[in-house]
Amino acid sequence: MKTFFSYHKALMQLLHSAGFSALSQRTKLEALLTLCGDLLKTDSVSIWSMSSCGASLNREFYYQPQSGHHYLPYTLTRAEHALYFKVLEEAEILVTHDATQDPRTQSLRGTYVGHGSDVAAMLDVPIYDGNRLYGVLCLESAAQRHWSLPDIACATAFADTVSLTNTHQAWLNSRKELDYITHHDDFTGLQNRHSLEHRLQQLIQKDVPNHFALLWFDIDRLNTINNGLGDQVGDAVVSEVAARLRGLLLPGKDMVARVGGDEFAMLYAWPDDDSELAATVASIMDTLHQPIYIGQQKLVVTTSVGVALYPRDTDDINSLLRCSESAMYHAKACGRRQAQFYNQAVSVSAKARFLLESQLIDALANNGLSVFYQPIMSADLQTLVSCEALVRWSHPRAGFLSPAEFLPLAYEAGLMTELDLWVLERVCQDIKQARTQGLCMPTVAVNLSADTVMDPLLADKVFNLLEHYQIQGGQLELEMIEDAIKGDSSTLSDTLAQLVRMGIKLSIDDFGTGYSSLLRLKNLPFTKLKIDRSFIQDLPHDIDDCALTLSILGMARGLGLAVVAEGVENIDQEQWLQQQGCHYLQGFKYHRPMPVSDFFALLKAGMTHE
Ligand code: C2E
Ligand code: CA
Ligand code: CA
Repeated sequence: MKTFFSYHKALMQLLHSAGFSALSQRTKLEALLTLCGDLLKTDSVSIWSMSSCGASLNREFYYQPQSGHHYLPYTLTRAEHALYFKVLEEAEILVTHDATQDPRTQSLRGTYVGHGSDVAAMLDVPIYDGNRLYGVLCLESAAQRHWSLPDIACATAFADTVSLTNTHQAWLNSRKELDYITHHDDFTGLQNRHSLEHRLQQLIQKDVPNHFALLWFDIDRLNTINNGLGDQVGDAVVSEVAARLRGLLLPGKDMVARVGGDEFAMLYAWPDDDSELAATVASIMDTLHQPIYIGQQKLVVTTSVGVALYPRDTDDINSLLRCSESAMYHAKACGRRQAQFYNQAVSVSAKARFLLESQLIDALANNGLSVFYQPIMSADLQTLVSCEALVRWSHPRAGFLSPAEFLPLAYEAGLMTELDLWVLERVCQDIKQARTQGLCMPTVAVNLSADTVMDPLLADKVFNLLEHYQIQGGQLELEMIEDAIKGDSSTLSDTLAQLVRMGIKLSIDDFGTGYSSLLRLKNLPFTKLKIDRSFIQDLPHDIDDCALTLSILGMARGLGLAVVAEGVENIDQEQWLQQQGCHYLQGFKYHRPMPVSDFFALLKAGMTHE
């Protein structure tokens, strides 16, 4: 038994030697085979692994004390060597001093053992991977050999060690997998919020002060894409945006993570030069805004980005996350498709966001909102043809808040439908009020968000309001953005048809910013297009905007639609639009949105004027 103890001691020394545990699995196994072969003085030691279906054993490692390690693949099939496989499967140790005579190894005779081969005696011990038979450790001798008890005990100890390292490796792999699952988003393969926070922690803990920017991206109107074009298209958009962010070759780019359904974060080594950083952010957005092709469909998807800087804006991880996110909301509120750097203004709105949301709910319930009216003029400026109702919130402390400041909040909080219906009701009340005062209220255009347009009960709700306030449908016009009418839902076409039957006019708002196909427009009951202010802004100096506006006007003429230009502020824009045959003009040049009392006064003045 003395020998066994010396074998065992050598094995323990190897296992506990410095660096053994850090070796790769392959190197560990080679070291074990070397020691085993050298200690037991066999002619060869090998490790065979079972194929995953169990049909064959394949030699993976082969060591000969006299000549070292070799790569000598060899395969034994279950079909040919059923008995030998059975022995291994029954967890038996196969000990034979003469394999040519042993019934269990008869099938190996002539090829693997016996004449012309290097194998006469065999000592084979099964090895495992967890509970699964992994393969076999084979000690072989070219001449007959009577294996001693210490030989067998030692071979078993080596086989068990191989089983243990296998199991450990499997455990390491499963840990890696688990780690992958906890740190990655399985849809896009990007890291997740958990990893982002972990990485932030690392960056912040470094002794050398780090400067970096946290960029927070949000895909604009993904909801409308999902609703209109289907979830699959939405998913494809999300994974394309993820792939583009991942693929960015940007010096200083650190980590990209998916932090929400359509939200992504990127860590970026801040160049300490604001204009350089701004240029980088702009170029990233440019990449994201390139068209996305999904099947036959071409989509231009935009994003809003918030940027917060460490340590300039804050040196705390949680508030850094909040800062960039709220800067992103600010970007959305300012009209989307833009980047917003965190600053004091955003900060106030960030801190107040939560409070604001509950106040907004309160305002909705207690008539804390109001409606302003902005006149829309005929192109010859002779007639106030209609007006647009625009919501305002007279906040108890902050004063009048513009929709840009609170609509994104209402949108996020799922309050848009409630808000739109509140505005609609207030407009009906004002129309009724005008009538009581003997005023002739022009058609009022009311904005509807995509959520509201999708509401299957919208037509019923509008009908009830008209009845309740005794108002003709012709008094109302409903404006919706292109995104709201995308897709082929039958609910949508039913709703639109019912509204038109009530005499209500429908117009498309912010035209040019979405992706309407002309063909679709032709089939839907719209009578008016409103050209987005962003296209009017630089008329007539910007050639692209001129071309776009002209093409919208031409198309509208072809489809028999009237056109309103929004945001007319100066005489150059006005004259150009008049010359091109735009039908209606709306903008600060004529009137700003005003409270209902001012609007009534304007109507009264108009009547006496006539
Ligand atoms: P919009 O539908 O495009 O409304 C026109 C916006 O342009 C209004 O901003 C109006 O005040 C502004 N505007 C008009 N003329 C000019 C001009 O000459 N120059 C400039 N710079 N701006 C001009 P407002 O009232 O801040 O509304 C912003 C957006 O909020 C609206 O854009 C609309 O999309 C949304 N909104 C307003 N009220 C409601 C509502 O009751 N429901 C819904 N769903 N959305 C609303
Ligand atoms: Ca509008
Ligand atoms: Ca508009």
